[in-house]
Amino acid sequence: MLDRSNELNAWDRDHFFHPSTHMGTHARGESPTRIIRSGKGVHITDSTGSTSIDAFAGLYCVNVGYGRQEIADAIARQARELAYYHAYVGHGTDASITLAKMIIDRAPEGMSRVYFGLSGSDANETNIKLVWYYNNVLGRPEKKKIISRWRGYHGSGVMTGSLTGLELFHNAFDLPRAPILHTEAPYYFRRADRSMSEEQFSQHCADKLEEMILAEGPETVAAFIGEPILGTGGIVPPPAHYWEKIQAVLNKYDILLIADEVVTGFGRLGTMFGSDHYGIKPDLITIAKGLTSAYAPLSGVIVSDNVWQVLVKGSDMLGSLGHGWTYSAHPICAAAGAANLELIDKLDLVTNAGETGAYFRKSLTQALGDHPIVGEVRGDGMLAAVEFVADKDDRTFFDPALKVGPRIATALAERGVIGRAMPQGDILGFAPPLCLTRDEADVVVKAAAEAVDAVAKSL
Ligand code: PMP
Repeated sequence: MLDRSNELNAWDRDHFFHPSTHMGTHARGESPTRIIRSGKGVHITDSTGSTSIDAFAGLYCVNVGYGRQEIADAIARQARELAYYHAYVGHGTDASITLAKMIIDRAPEGMSRVYFGLSGSDANETNIKLVWYYNNVLGRPEKKKIISRWRGYHGSGVMTGSLTGLELFHNAFDLPRAPILHTEAPYYFRRADRSMSEEQFSQHCADKLEEMILAEGPETVAAFIGEPILGTGGIVPPPAHYWEKIQAVLNKYDILLIADEVVTGFGRLGTMFGSDHYGIKPDLITIAKGLTSAYAPLSGVIVSDNVWQVLVKGSDMLGSLGHGWTYSAHPICAAAGAANLELIDKLDLVTNAGETGAYFRKSLTQALGDHPIVGEVRGDGMLAAVEFVADKDDRTFFDPALKVGPRIATALAERGVIGRAMPQGDILGFAPPLCLTRDEADVVVKAAAEAVDAVAKSL
């Protein structure tokens, strides 16, 4: 095949407006462009022929790994049979209806319907609108505020960027912060007083939430949104008893709980959903990423039966739902989703995420836990993070200008492994495909240990 890499590099810098990229350094050619050509299992290969282990599964989404023939065939079959039909006014396709059924069969107890979108962001936009609609139907038009957490990630749309609790996603965009509020991040390592136990810190988080609800007026607070385990905010598992304490506060004030399972849905924590893993009882669940393993863009909101009953009442009062996307329940994406869920079952990837994930995190802890610049190795299931500190005893952090996290991620990439420098703090994140083997985990851990050593020496 003719190698057009040079031409593509030039076109890329001149014409491609990349998401989440430093526009200046990229356009000026000061940061590299990497053109990815192919993928198989946990590996990706770029235009220079160099192969890496993708230990972040793209953006924690290629859960079944790359190059799965079954999903490619399902997409091709659906494209030939019926590439598109909409889902408005009661229309469906074999693929979209089948997938809705497959999702509810796997969802936590009490869930009854799936509303399909295309991205995690648009699914959370749907969540916000459903929560507002719900309270309008119940005759509580003032109950509209939504509480998110600092360091939560829920998208980068206008409202969902506001839900996201990371400053980078707010800065310079004039997002409408009201009616969205942010409460304490359940980040024991960074936020807890050293004298507190995990459970005491969870109680502190629940108390802070209750204080906020009371200060705002419970009659104005509609919903709370949280990822079962903080993802983009640093891959931080909840401290002990966090969710039961939060949930007790929400129940007390009749506040809906939205579990954002865009990362955790479909196996990443070693259970089908993170809600099951941590005993969360959500009213609404956001899904995306692992739903299709990113073979096609598809997201959804899973609606509990309780909320559904109110929505139905609403349409009897207000007429049909004024909310829909052209591509809601796109049949090609739905066919990819159904084939993906079948494959997850067939290969028992949920079990592997739990077992190999535990092995991976244990090996990572053994290799790096005592390193002088490592403050914490943490994670759950097939999610792990290493947080770097300038001083282990005082728990002080590096000057962000030193870019320790990004430098370690680069050093890791040079050793053939892709991790992710998380956007806030010096944190190296891992979210490998759920099919990772122990041998592959060993390669990732060895490269990570070498990368950390190399950067530590240079500091
Ligand atoms: N919620 C969570 C928990 C996420 O991690 C993400 C994406 N990383 C989103 C929502 C937004 O998804 P998308 O990028 O598909 O809009």
